[in-house]
Amino acid sequence: MKYTFSCADIGMNCGFEIINAGSEEELLEMLKTHAKMDHGITSIPPELIDKIKKAIRKSGKYSFSCADIGMNCGFEIIGASSEDELLQQLSIHARMSHKMSNIPQDTINAIKQKIKVS
Ligand SMILES: [Zn+2]
Ligand SMILES: [Zn+2]
Repeated sequence: MKYTFSCADIGMNCGFEIINAGSEEELLEMLKTHAKMDHGITSIPPELIDKIKKAIRKSGKYSFSCADIGMNCGFEIIGASSEDELLQQLSIHARMSHKMSNIPQDTINAIKQKIKVS
């Protein structure tokens, strides 16, 4: 999962951007330094942290295989662009190959635990 943020996203007119940080923590650490050095903010107030977190764009590839939850059908999804997309594809597969008209909540929870993000 990669994390991207630009000051312009929260209405700051400074051109600073962080692209593809490896974690949200990493991005926030860098942003603290930037806030201090360029905006004179020594500690970022919690409201601003919330605003920043909402503006962070996440990109990753989501993968899942039925074998991960003990289904022996060989089905895999690799490289979906969001968890929602992956779950939608999976509901088609569940309906057409496993004859499940909808996936029970427990199974969805089990699936979510097994989804791999890269
Ligand atoms: Zn800035
Ligand atoms: Zn399957």
